[in-house]
Amino acid sequence: MTITYTLGGKLYVNLTNRCPNACDFCLRTHGPGVGDAESLWLDREPTRDEIWEDLSKRDLNAYPELVFCGYGEPTCRLEDMLWLCGKVRQASHISIRVNTNGLSDLINGRKTASEFDGLVDIISISLNASTPEKYQELCHSQFGLDALPAILSFTRQVSVYVPQVVLSVVDKDMSQKEIAECERLARQTGALFRIRAYIED
Ligand code: SF4
Repeated sequence: MTITYTLGGKLYVNLTNRCPNACDFCLRTHGPGVGDAESLWLDREPTRDEIWEDLSKRDLNAYPELVFCGYGEPTCRLEDMLWLCGKVRQASHISIRVNTNGLSDLINGRKTASEFDGLVDIISISLNASTPEKYQELCHSQFGLDALPAILSFTRQVSVYVPQVVLSVVDKDMSQKEIAECERLARQTGALFRIRAYIED
């Protein structure tokens, strides 16, 4: 069972395989693993103590960044993830990033932005589309048309607690007009905007 893995010299944590979306471009549809991980499919979710034990075996200061990502949405385990961030903060000065679909509030059934306070350096949120309908067509979220407004709301709120907030789109089949529209939305939230390259099979 792969709990932590490296990619591009950075250290990643694979917390869960759960996710409320089924995005057309999801890396999980390409193969079992990325980086030096043969498979990111979990037989069961590791406990937070098991994850911390795994992280403790690594020299955290040897990596430029720790990223919560993996084959699932990390905020499906929000409390465990933030507990781990606290442990890492006490043990190291490594920068901490969370890659998320931005649906934490809907997943956890409450406003969650303030819970990130002081625990995360960068949060990278997938925007993917400029309207709720386009988002749903691409990401097939269990939250339907509520998903995109919740992502934008979370983005605005988490910017108060996390120093760097990035909204991103994957450039697969996106028109320049749609990219410009996404950038406009991102600017309204105060987040940075980034275009990510689509990874082919
Ligand atoms: S939100 Fe992320 S993990 Fe979930 S389906 Fe989309 S790309 Fe995959």
